[in-house]
Amino acid sequence: MISFKHVEKYYGSFHALKDINLTIERGEVVVAIGPSGSGKSTMLRCINALEEITTGELLVDGVDIHDKKTNLNEVRKNLGMVFQHFNLYPNMTVLENVTIAPIKVLKEDKETATKKAEKLLEKVGMLHKKDEYPTQLSGGQQQRIAIARSLAMEPDVMLFDEPTSALDPEMVGEVLDVMKSLAKDSGMTMIVVTHEMGFAREVADRVIFMADGQILEDRESESFFDHP
Ligand code: ADP
Ligand code: ADP
Repeated sequence: MISFKHVEKYYGSFHALKDINLTIERGEVVVAIGPSGSGKSTMLRCINALEEITTGELLVDGVDIHDKKTNLNEVRKNLGMVFQHFNLYPNMTVLENVTIAPIKVLKEDKETATKKAEKLLEKVGMLHKKDEYPTQLSGGQQQRIAIARSLAMEPDVMLFDEPTSALDPEMVGEVLDVMKSLAKDSGMTMIVVTHEMGFAREVADRVIFMADGQILEDRESESFFDHP
């Protein structure tokens, strides 16, 4: 599904990713941990081509996303991304936030997009807020809506970049619960950058530990936590 081969990434002269080799299979849930500044977010952003790699090869579903001939919009359609800050559209209702991309990008009719959005909002426990505006909601609620909005594009892969680190502690659990059920029930391929070790232990198939731009450990979750 995703394959890094000898990937290097520089920001100017700063060496942010060093010889990254990583293969992620369809349906796998991979958690990336490691100190701040170790390159976790850069690695995620290379996958959906928000950042270019400097050298090496990066394939997503068999497509070389850094080949100039690749249509990035097609690739990105299959990659949902949830950031630390949820960036919902403030002037749209919750429901409109979730239907806008399927209508504009996937060319779904309004009724289809609405039905799908309502199902997803129900899944994340936010259906009762569908006619409200994001600014009226808590951070945890907004993040759950951001997850529903990403899922509405029916991606093959979901990328999460510290989805709970900007939240007040009492809201972290409700977002992790949504991510857990996504991991366990949907068979979604997920890559999650997080400091939440409980989440990693409970749902990750594999844990990657990064430091200083390198992958220092890449192990099955069980072995990572039980035989450190
Ligand atoms: P992490 O997600 O592990 O905290 P990042 O991937 O965000 O790490 O950052 C890795 C390193 O690359 C950091 O030292 C950061 O300052 C640097 N970096 C990230 N983005 C840029 C950028 N756009 N320009 C220059 N340096 C960057
Ligand atoms: P996160 O904590 O989510 O990894 P950061 O605060 O590291 O985010 O980075 C936020 C944004 O700033 C990113 O778009 C990143 O590319 C950019 N950035 C990070 N470090 C640097 C840097 N040293 N120089 C320029 N841009 C940077």
